[in-house]
Amino acid sequence: MSFTLAIVGRPNVGKSTLFNRLVGKRLALVDDQPGVTRDLREGAARLGDLRFTVIDTAGLEEATDESLQGRMRKLTERAVDMADICLFMIDARTGVTPTDEIFAEILRKRAKHVILAANKGEGRAADAGVIEAYGLGLGEPIRLSAEHGEGLNDLYAQLQPLADAFEDQAKADGSDLPEIDVTLDEEDGDDESKFHVRWPTIEKPMQIAVVGRPNAGKSTLINKILGDDRLLTGPEAGITRDAISLTIDWDGMPIRIWDTAGMRKKAKIQDKLEKLSVSDGLRAVKFAEVVIVLLDAAIPFEQQDLRIADLAEREGRAVVIAVNKWDIEDDKQGKINALREAFERLLPQLRGAPLVTVSAKTGKGLDRLRAAVEKAYDTWNRRVTTAQLNRWLAGMMEAHPPPAPGGKRIKLRYMTQAKTRPPGFVVMCSNPENMPDSYSRYLVNGLRTDFDMPGTPIRLFMRGQG
Ligand code: GDP
Ligand code: GDP
Repeated sequence: MSFTLAIVGRPNVGKSTLFNRLVGKRLALVDDQPGVTRDLREGAARLGDLRFTVIDTAGLEEATDESLQGRMRKLTERAVDMADICLFMIDARTGVTPTDEIFAEILRKRAKHVILAANKGEGRAADAGVIEAYGLGLGEPIRLSAEHGEGLNDLYAQLQPLADAFEDQAKADGSDLPEIDVTLDEEDGDDESKFHVRWPTIEKPMQIAVVGRPNAGKSTLINKILGDDRLLTGPEAGITRDAISLTIDWDGMPIRIWDTAGMRKKAKIQDKLEKLSVSDGLRAVKFAEVVIVLLDAAIPFEQQDLRIADLAEREGRAVVIAVNKWDIEDDKQGKINALREAFERLLPQLRGAPLVTVSAKTGKGLDRLRAAVEKAYDTWNRRVTTAQLNRWLAGMMEAHPPPAPGGKRIKLRYMTQAKTRPPGFVVMCSNPENMPDSYSRYLVNGLRTDFDMPGTPIRLFMRGQG
């Protein structure tokens, strides 16, 4: 199983050069496959240990008139729809052009995963263009030189986790498996007991992972969300060892939920539970958009919980903490205070993330959990305009001027949101390397409060100019 990467961007930025580098001599094998048009080239690509299909939208001249501009748009949209990941390329020597902006707009609306590459990145002539690329709102650009083969490690680093996740998803979808009927045991049987292993896919479901230590109640929770007894058609059919996912409608919200618990029990590998749950959780976290860290109220914030919560934050996921088995808690008020205190002390990096008490068994609190998940997801997707940000930045600097290490005041010139999911911001400033962490924290905390982004990881990049 592999994925499809489309290289898009205006003519002459170096798309074909990268395509050729990724495909090498293997192009001849796939060049004239059916379905590949004159305008779209497809090849079997290799990068490190990754194998994938690459599409190149070559074959167009610079758009000088309406119809060509329209064709370029159509072609790009088609490539985007065919691809799992889009590599959007700009020319770092030229900098960002109006045509690049048009492409960025298409990608922001349409693409599932975008990797931004500032090509022709060798040498200092590219510095300014690389910085400009942040302003496209598509994340941190990879500095690439397709011609000289530089930056391919960074490209690999961005592709690799996605490749992993696609593989998991394909297994869970069964899209690389034949469709199988599964009949459950007689005692479980009712009309619903015959399933297809392939689960129907709802339009762009929110990806949720439920993680936590063994016996926290993950399976019980997922079962409850699903409605009783409809979980786990997969493991019997041996779909995957790593993780299974189910796409469902959670009171009107389409979600794909990753379970890393149920099948472990079936596989009877209890003795390895500890180790497995970490690596399973790790994979699920990579693909998730929202991570529900499920704690057992009796033993909250265990080492393993802390590790996975921290991982989720570092991977930039929206995090919701759910405290389970609340039904058997006697001193609820005392407990909640203790939990909040422990949360602040042990997971300061997730400050403000929602903490919800639930009972997976009775279903109590699941409506609040759903609301928290939805809000966390919205925050994670939040976009703040550049105008708003710069007004805000001026206010922040007035309230608390930037430091002057060694007597030289750091100047913050300009700020823009470089990405969402999670929100990431770039501040252009003089000597960013001397910016103390305390001032970055001041800005991040300010962003949280002033733009109502509690809980979500916020990335702040300081960049020098020239
Ligand atoms: P495409 O139209 O986007 O497919 O662009 P091409 O791959 O045909 O490249 C356009 C021009 O840019 C060619 O002359 C390439 O040799 C040149 N080019 C491609 N990559 C690089 C690079 O990394 N650095 C430099 N300096 N030139 C490059
Ligand atoms: P997993 O290993 O995280 O998937 O945990 P399970 O869902 O298998 O649950 C472990 C145990 O905790 C089972 O005995 C469940 O019945 C129990 N359990 C799960 N949720 C609750 C809850 O909300 N309240 C109580 N009292 N028990 C629960």
